[in-house]
Amino acid sequence: MSDFAAEFAAVGAWIDRYLSNARDYPVLSKVSPGEVASRLPASAPEHPEAFESLMADFESVILPGITHWNSPRFFAYFATSAAPIGISAEALAAALDVKAMLWRTSPAATELEEVVMRWLARLMGLPDTFTGIIYDTASIGGFTALAAARESLDLEIRERGMTARELPRLRVYITSETHSHVEKACIALGIGRENVVRIETDGELRMRPDALTAQLDADVAAGMRPMAIVATVGTTSTTTRDPLEEIVAIARGRNIWLHVDAAYAGIAAIMPEFRSILAGAEHADSIVVNPHKWLFVPMDCSALYVRDPEMLRRAFSLVPEFILDAGEESGRNYMEYGLQLGRRFRALKLWFVLRYYGAEAIREHLRRHIALAQEFASWIEAEPGWEIFAPHPFSVVCFRYAPLGLDESGIEKLNARILEDVNATGEVFLSHTKIRDRYALRLAIGNLQTAREDVAVAWRLLRGASKK
Ligand code: PLP
Repeated sequence: MSDFAAEFAAVGAWIDRYLSNARDYPVLSKVSPGEVASRLPASAPEHPEAFESLMADFESVILPGITHWNSPRFFAYFATSAAPIGISAEALAAALDVKAMLWRTSPAATELEEVVMRWLARLMGLPDTFTGIIYDTASIGGFTALAAARESLDLEIRERGMTARELPRLRVYITSETHSHVEKACIALGIGRENVVRIETDGELRMRPDALTAQLDADVAAGMRPMAIVATVGTTSTTTRDPLEEIVAIARGRNIWLHVDAAYAGIAAIMPEFRSILAGAEHADSIVVNPHKWLFVPMDCSALYVRDPEMLRRAFSLVPEFILDAGEESGRNYMEYGLQLGRRFRALKLWFVLRYYGAEAIREHLRRHIALAQEFASWIEAEPGWEIFAPHPFSVVCFRYAPLGLDESGIEKLNARILEDVNATGEVFLSHTKIRDRYALRLAIGNLQTAREDVAVAWRLLRGASKK
């Protein structure tokens, strides 16, 4: 056996033990700032170090500074899972070390990406007319879609830029609940934060179509140019859904680019009973869903679907001379569809996960997560003093402890203290949010190994902390 084979076997055994005992680690790292860095040498070694020594330091220096996202008791933000088969696929992709930029720089990477993205689209009920492209994150996919939206306005911004010339003010429409990457993308694209317009929401924090229409009318009357509307299916804070079908009708009626951010919840459409959450998305210009959020694919893997891939090419294609294909036959060259030149072979892990589990088992895991979240919500509802704070259609519950007699600021302090106490135990990790400026705790379920007992531990700790 080569040294590599022995070392890789040791890594495999380590990962296997880690995943089997994931509950034994404090979920939220307990190190203080600078602690990990202080345990590392200031300079790289001049001479080789033994594999055993690397692994020993990995365990003693690095692991204590890890927050265990792959723990069944990680309930913060959006809980995720790196499926073991996805980890194996990552190792294979690293071995091939493909830079999937041109078709010829690895035809299989390009063609597998096309096929597996179509598989995923079909699982979610999206039509084959969409072209799928994998990016690292929904933030980059969203940025790329908005760059295409800007290009679609035919304002020659690609060639002439946006400075020292007469251009209408470009406007992008979101809500207070839209993920912050949209605003960042608008900063990077020269749209300006002032032109990112937050449309009023209804009682469930959904974009109000009438308010959207009124704002569009007012902006157009003032000589502005609507560039894009971003609708969210499963917002970051409460997982609410903007009314997609009504927003689609508005966007199509006015020929405005519609980007659907379904980074977390879009995956739920794989279950027939949730298919309707993407109703209308087939008429959107772009849609993003994250297999690295709720489809058990290790970070990073975000799927962007576009109706007109040519618009992405128009926005980004710039092929340097040194990689020109000299007229030879070629499939799709993915480097023309975004900022990156070299691209990781991410399709492999998505392909492995989809095949290893199969759609039925994936649906069962999603249903289990949703059922656990609903059961957790029922415990909250049944407990005096505790309240559910927002509808919880998926696997995320927003809630808080609000005993009688406390004002808003008292409730915030109390819940922040409860959260700190619970997370300090290391047994679970939850996060919080603010809903219309009111503080709420948030429990998200998304790990393959999370069982009822894990959620029960979280509830026991929360109740215990509330009684202190
Ligand atoms: N969109 C939504 C609705 C999200 O909740 C998030 C992250 O939680 C993102 C986009 C950003 O995802 P990523 O980390 O893949 O950029």
